Amino acid sequence: MSTQEHPLGISFEFFPPNTEAGRDKLMGVRDALASRNPRFFSVTYGAGGSTQNRTLNTVRQVRESGISTAPHLSCIGSEKAQLRDLLAQYREEGIDSLVALRGDLPSGMGGIGELRYANELVEFIREETGDHFEIAVAAYPESHPQAPSFEKDLENFARKMNAGANLAITQYFFTADAYFHFVERARALGVEAPIIPGVMPITNYTKLARFSDACGAEIPRWIRKQLEAYGDDSESIAAFGEEVISRLCQRLLDGGAPGLHFYTLNQAAPSLKVLDNITG
Ligand code: FAD
Repeated sequence: MSTQEHPLGISFEFFPPNTEAGRDKLMGVRDALASRNPRFFSVTYGAGGSTQNRTLNTVRQVRESGISTAPHLSCIGSEKAQLRDLLAQYREEGIDSLVALRGDLPSGMGGIGELRYANELVEFIREETGDHFEIAVAAYPESHPQAPSFEKDLENFARKMNAGANLAITQYFFTADAYFHFVERARALGVEAPIIPGVMPITNYTKLARFSDACGAEIPRWIRKQLEAYGDDSESIAAFGEEVISRLCQRLLDGGAPGLHFYTLNQAAPSLKVLDNITG
């Protein structure tokens, strides 16, 4: 695909592996995806700093590719002093972009910390480090699961952008109109920054259904029914998933989306196949 017409281009997200084998595998995945000239890679972070070292180590390894790599950073369950130290460490390492999140605290895991929402984290990063970091935040075209209403969630999103975020990456979704509607409404509230659709390749129905319930992403009935019908036939699931996601991505780009951010789940093939099917 040509990324020329989409100034933000494509990006890929990884999670920090917790085994040696997982780390080795990720380096192969990174290299396969680096060949598509992504604008950046990003690495997720566990709430309360639970993956802090693994996130940093993974960022170090991924950055060896020469491609800018953004650690995710969540504030829930963390104190300002911890976050300040981590920001200083990231700066020392030459990291210049972050994905700033509130995060979710697993039940029974301590207090919420000093910063309650992502807008407060963005403000804190700006206060502490000025313009050093390019900051991406999360957006929810189908509404965050805890939001009291779509309108409130949109206002909270605009507040987070106004606190100094440079771009947003959306939760994944399967209905292109949900994205276009969200972008239109955000623009009406004065948000001008790019809002990049987050894309989840479909490879496994059970995991996808569990994930989607938790994060509030709706799997349309026709997709659910078709995936259910395939049962354990992973080849058919992958082929159908590739077709559905390729068509979604093409619609998003044709409709003006400024790029695509792939939730890779540390696999290269599903994202690469989708990219092979679409034209910029
Ligand atoms: P916020 O923007 O703070 O919003 C959370 C909720 O609070 C929403 O319902 C919102 O409407 C409401 N709200 C926001 N601000 C205010 C306010 N000022 N006053 C009142 N209500 C408010 N999770 C991880 O643990 N690690 C990761 O690495 C990670 N990466 C992610 C990457 C992307 C691109 C996305 C989309 C999600 C990611 N998540 C990650 C999940 C995310 O942490 C959860 O969705 C979390 O529940 C919300 O985080 P947030 O930054 O969107 O929160």
